[in-house]
Amino acid sequence: MDRDSKVKNPAGDPRRALPSIDRLTRDLIQAAPELPGWAVQAAAQQAVARARAALAAGGSAGHVAMEARQRAAELARPRPGRVVNATGVVLHTNLGRSPLAPAAASAVAAAAQGYSDVELDLASGGRGKRQASLTRMLCLLSGAEDALVVGNNAGAVLLALAALARGREVIVSRGELVEIGGSFRVPEILEQAGVRLVEVGTTNRTHPKDYQQAIGPETAALLKVHRSNFEQQGFVTEVGIPELRQIGDAHGVAVIDDLGSATLLDLRGEGLPDDSWAPGRLQQGADLVCFSGDKLLGGPQAGIVLGARELVERLRTSPLARALRQDKLGMAALDATLRLLLEDRHLEIPTLRMLLEPVQQVGRRARTLAKRLEERLQSVAGIEVLAVPGAVGGGSLPGFELPSVAIALRTAVGAEALAEGLRQAPVPVLVRIREDRVWIDVRTLLDGEDVLVERALAHALGLS
Ligand SMILES: *Cc1c(COP(=O)(O)O)cnc(C)c1O
Repeated sequence: MDRDSKVKNPAGDPRRALPSIDRLTRDLIQAAPELPGWAVQAAAQQAVARARAALAAGGSAGHVAMEARQRAAELARPRPGRVVNATGVVLHTNLGRSPLAPAAASAVAAAAQGYSDVELDLASGGRGKRQASLTRMLCLLSGAEDALVVGNNAGAVLLALAALARGREVIVSRGELVEIGGSFRVPEILEQAGVRLVEVGTTNRTHPKDYQQAIGPETAALLKVHRSNFEQQGFVTEVGIPELRQIGDAHGVAVIDDLGSATLLDLRGEGLPDDSWAPGRLQQGADLVCFSGDKLLGGPQAGIVLGARELVERLRTSPLARALRQDKLGMAALDATLRLLLEDRHLEIPTLRMLLEPVQQVGRRARTLAKRLEERLQSVAGIEVLAVPGAVGGGSLPGFELPSVAIALRTAVGAEALAEGLRQAPVPVLVRIREDRVWIDVRTLLDGEDVLVERALAHALGLS
């Protein structure tokens, strides 16, 4: 703090009592040498600025040093950082949707740590097609003529609309003009693609004749959008892909299906709904099917487009395709995930394992963990194993029942405080709270996470 300003400032200004940023930084580095200097300095600046603003507004400065230390610790923590998902929501949007299979994670690490033949043909030594191998596997798995991958499904839908319908009309049912988490709104995507939206039908009912009457010379495509995160029940009619195909054929317009969440394996026998199987939508007559790589497929964030060769080629050669392309790390993860599907090793994909694991087996895992926790936590917590409803999440399979098993904990500190303690553990554990109990849902625990749950609980209850 320089001396001149001290003289000029009126003695009663409480801002004079604030430490200087330099002083605060030095003190913090001494008190918490494990925190990196850049984080301490940035945190000290923020904390002092916040305190000044609070004082200027007539409030109190608060505990500036403590706040700075918390901010510095927060900045120093890598983001995104590892957490344990004990919520029972398989595709948890806030927790990064699908965890990768170990084989996919290793492929990412290998591609990340060295150079790779991402655009090289090793046989000729010349330039290679970036997506040739992914396209081949996607076609083998789906029976599609052609396939393309971009960075995410919002991008895939944008690309399909822009490449096939820019400056023209696309018809969408009013029942499908939805918003899907993370600000994906169908009308806005159409607008961004330079497409004129023609709405047909009503919120609850749309009939084939609604599409037929709306088709004109300007119509480029019929777009079907999966409602993804909600269900309509009662007096409801929608037009399916087969009827849209017929209407499209009669008028020479494309049928685009934004399926959102889909698998390439036929898991309908396992209780998954018909419309979760992407190849089935092609068989029903969609020209293009778009879906996410990190929802039911269980791979990395990606937007996958399957469909007719001529249309996919138009997407591929659109200038937007380059802007939306998938990075090499995502390619490596998707490549490894598709190989697991081709090799009948789909249960190594965590998302599919979680969805398909029989509830009896989840129960056995829950009892094993509960026993371990009983030994460790002794009398600190009341522990019970409960049958609970699970959820797929991530805008996938609304209405799909996924029974699960949770370990319910009751402690003297109360459920909210325990959940907060678990979030503050070295590896945070995310849980549900029901009737003042913490539920640790075992369905969404990955291999080896039992020990992380045990450690986090010991941490939260002050036993470690
Ligand atoms: C999830 C979803 C999207 C967005 O996909 P991202 O991969 O998150 O970009 C688009 N449309 C539908 C129907 C979806 O369910």
